[in-house]
Amino acid sequence: IKIIFSCIFVAFLAIRWTSNFDAESLRGAKVLVTGSSKGIGEQMAYHYARFGAKIVITARSKDTLQKVVEKCLSLGAQEAFYIAADMSNESDLDRVVDFALKKLGGLDYLVLNHIGSTRVAMWDGDVEHAKWLMKINFFSYIQMAWKALPSLEKNKGSLVIVSSLAGKMPSPLTAPYVSTKSALNGFFGSLRHELAMKKSNVSISVCTLGLIDTETAMSKVKGKVNMPAYPATEAALNIIITGATRQPELFYPWFTYIWTLTKDWIPSFTDYVVQRSYNYNP
Ligand code: NDP
Repeated sequence: IKIIFSCIFVAFLAIRWTSNFDAESLRGAKVLVTGSSKGIGEQMAYHYARFGAKIVITARSKDTLQKVVEKCLSLGAQEAFYIAADMSNESDLDRVVDFALKKLGGLDYLVLNHIGSTRVAMWDGDVEHAKWLMKINFFSYIQMAWKALPSLEKNKGSLVIVSSLAGKMPSPLTAPYVSTKSALNGFFGSLRHELAMKKSNVSISVCTLGLIDTETAMSKVKGKVNMPAYPATEAALNIIITGATRQPELFYPWFTYIWTLTKDWIPSFTDYVVQRSYNYNP
């Protein structure tokens, strides 16, 4: 019964926010998307471009960024710029936000999406890797968000955080990654309360994604997991709509929401299913 009610609730939310979405609201919107040289970030750049937004994209590989910018302009972006930066480098973080503020004349959306590379493997005690990953996947997010906040406040803007089901429901073989996503959920959940208490203009959307068919994800999980992957372009569009309609959360695909509930309602069953979704033969 709980599961049926949850499905109805999710369907209701999905219908409500997609029907509220006004594509015109993104025409001319000033958007910074991180991790946008490939995968979901690249697809977000193309959607924003089709909606006629002004965008800045960033990642480390300059050549790829250049190609993505060219495609964005051909798809209809009012303006498109790129800046190469490494999110493990503290000085790059402010540099990227300053670049976007200057090129676009402010920000309406900051979409934090980048992640550092990590192995899909049993935890091997490599604390240095966990610290490095935390720097890229978590600390860079909170620094960039803080830097962009005054402009977002002025423009009644939105912070969009790309998180993962792994941040709500720990999965095996990715302990450092799971930690960074849990930290994001905690931090931005707390910040959302504070902004609401301050009657801020800024909305925060935290996006919980299941497995998405990006090249990186598919190559990392190959032969290791038994679960379906969902299209990056659709995930990207859902993230954009969630930000544009100022919804606090996205669950994509929709049933990821059910998983976050079953972990509390029927934990032993959820543990059983999670552990059997991975191929591991000691
Ligand atoms: P990809 O690996 O496809 O893309 C990652 C992006 O981040 C690339 O543009 C990459 O470009 C950039 N990047 C990597 N390292 C750095 C760095 N040190 N500094 C700056 N940029 C960097 O990732 P996905 O598209 O698969 O994932 C995007 C988001 O979606 C992530 O937040 C991820 O956690 C989330 N997600 C993805 C899922 C999936 O199954 N794909 C599932 C759940 C959540 P470059 O290498 O050129 O720097």
